[in-house]
Amino acid sequence: MWRSSPERELAASWAADAAAGRAPAAEAEEPPAVDAGAAGEPERPAREEQPKAELQAPARPRAAEEGDARVARRLPPALPLAPARPAARALCQLAKARGRGRGYRRGSGSLRPVTVDSSKARTSLDALKISLRQLRWKEFPFGRRLPCDIYWHGVSFHDNDILSGQVNKFPGMTEMVRKITLSRALRIMQNLFPEEYNFYPRSWILPEEFQLFVAQVRMVKDGDPSWKPTFIVKPDGGCQGDGIYLIKDPNDIRLTGTLQSRPAVVQEYIYKPLLIDKLKFDIRLYVLLKSLDPLEIYIAKDGLSRFCTEPYQEPNPQNLHHVFMHLTNYSLNIHSGKFIHSDSASTGSKRTFSSILCRLSSKGVDIKKVWSDIISLVIKTVIALTPELKVFYQSDIPTGRPGPTCFQILGFDILLMKSLKPMLLEVNANPSMRIEHEYELSPGVFENIPSLVDEEVKVAVIRDTLRLMDPLKKKKETQSQHPEKPITGKEDLDCEMTGDPDSNPEAHLPSICLKQVFPKYAKQFNYLRLVDRMANLFIRFLGIKGTMKLGPTGFRTFIRNCKLSSSSLSMAAVDILYIDITRRWNSVTLDQRDSGMCLQAFVEAFFFLAQRKFKMLPLHEQVASLIDLCEYHLSLLDEKRLVCGRRRRPQSSPPQEMNARTQSAAGSLAPRMIGANKLPHSRHALS
Ligand code: ADP
Repeated sequence: MWRSSPERELAASWAADAAAGRAPAAEAEEPPAVDAGAAGEPERPAREEQPKAELQAPARPRAAEEGDARVARRLPPALPLAPARPAARALCQLAKARGRGRGYRRGSGSLRPVTVDSSKARTSLDALKISLRQLRWKEFPFGRRLPCDIYWHGVSFHDNDILSGQVNKFPGMTEMVRKITLSRALRIMQNLFPEEYNFYPRSWILPEEFQLFVAQVRMVKDGDPSWKPTFIVKPDGGCQGDGIYLIKDPNDIRLTGTLQSRPAVVQEYIYKPLLIDKLKFDIRLYVLLKSLDPLEIYIAKDGLSRFCTEPYQEPNPQNLHHVFMHLTNYSLNIHSGKFIHSDSASTGSKRTFSSILCRLSSKGVDIKKVWSDIISLVIKTVIALTPELKVFYQSDIPTGRPGPTCFQILGFDILLMKSLKPMLLEVNANPSMRIEHEYELSPGVFENIPSLVDEEVKVAVIRDTLRLMDPLKKKKETQSQHPEKPITGKEDLDCEMTGDPDSNPEAHLPSICLKQVFPKYAKQFNYLRLVDRMANLFIRFLGIKGTMKLGPTGFRTFIRNCKLSSSSLSMAAVDILYIDITRRWNSVTLDQRDSGMCLQAFVEAFFFLAQRKFKMLPLHEQVASLIDLCEYHLSLLDEKRLVCGRRRRPQSSPPQEMNARTQSAAGSLAPRMIGANKLPHSRHALS
């Protein structure tokens, strides 16, 4: 339930757009589908297991890979120009015509276009090219000897070795959104904030939690014999419905063979989804993580809805294996004889999300509420992911070493329940950005043809992501915030004042389809960021650059510096705690690269310490109190070091920011007050 209004405000504006059919793709033609949902890695491994089904699809056509012959590209759709003011524009154009070609930036004193290395863009290349053409930026399709402003990677942060500029992937994101890691991250949040995180189905990790799964199901059944649940088993790292199957009984899990080699998540099956035309569907929404620290999140106004092709029935033993009824993946349903390629965005097996909202709105559904619930789900999910992402980040790009800044488009797969409550199914680090689909010309003969809906939704997302990341615009903004150099070019100033579209290089573009939701609504969600603050503590004590695991000395130093040991918690007990938890986590996590305590293990140890210290409080208050206490002691320590440093080096003044923070912390006697102030993430020398 929304207690306050900002999301509703934003949701209202989007909802109004959707209801009026103004969202960009709502008007577009429904294409013969493209693999929008198909989620996951563009370079997917060969299927290990076909879903159990009467799926007798024709041999799967080869997906268009890099280098495949493609049909000639359509030109990018013409974009409307902003209304011109003829006289002023003519003057400005005249002034600019000299030596300034298309795409060259003005106003900031910079005379160059934004440069983008697209050599590793892979399957998002077509959409990227159209976006760059619309932006009039300069593409380097084969890379460049000199650094580029932006590197567009198709798969991962590590596609290229980059030392500067910006890259469209965060290190560790692919690992973070794998089914098991995501489930773990969300489970921590569910433990702390069960109400707030009830948008993710209850999940168990296999094989390690099989016994727990069996026991918990038995316990609930014993309490309520009428409970007849269904579960969905999803292999870790799978995509496109690969290897997924439904079960009614925990003992139906296929424990032999694949599970040991390929762990999985088993999850409560949402058996009452919202149906449209009697069909189950899901939503693919695009979310931009613009920055990790400070956290900045944007959501695209429109997404895609992927439909099943067989009318839905609640699961029963007879229909459990009907994939076209239960799984919404495009890559599966395309093989159903009933898949409908439609020319309209509001009919067929793939539609725009705005068309769904439009339809719901016409039936009297409160779509503002639907949107605000979705925004909340997205923010909360990102909050669950960021702590570990920060650990990856500092490991790949340690403070003080050269490296790029990162941003990333994520694909959120969401299912609306009959009650209209959105449920998170999964997050994709590499959502498909293909804008074409395969069309069967004659049996077995396929051709790639453009898909309008995909193009409209995906090109807008890529283009507007680039606009938000525009390094030259950022530079200009910084300059205007710190106007060291006064603007000298009267011509530029005049153009800005006259509203000349050419003075604004984006005047020919539609309004940005990505809306900021964080920090815009930070106030309502900041209280959830406890694990984030724990990750800051963890990173502070990691010590060695590039590592992601805390050694025993780091853990001891953490305990000592935060003054957590006492007569009832000796340092020997601390060592045992470290060994115990670390050993357990290292036996279940796949990552065996370095030894030591991973973030999740640290979180578990932290919970344990918090429960001991603040016995009577609910868990999230115990944890918050312990974080406050740690931050308080560390700020005192920082202050002390600062004073010592000053005594030793009286001529050098400490950094301003640190000074203010430590002073305020030291001035306060109440640890809880300090909790609101985040400590710096940079690692300090361990004492
Ligand atoms: P993949 O990455 O293989 O596509 P998903 O987690 O997206 O895996 O699941 C595939 C499909 O299965 C989803 O698109 C959805 O239709 C269905 N599905 C997944 N989880 C659930 C669930 N808990 N309840 C109901 N349906 C689900």
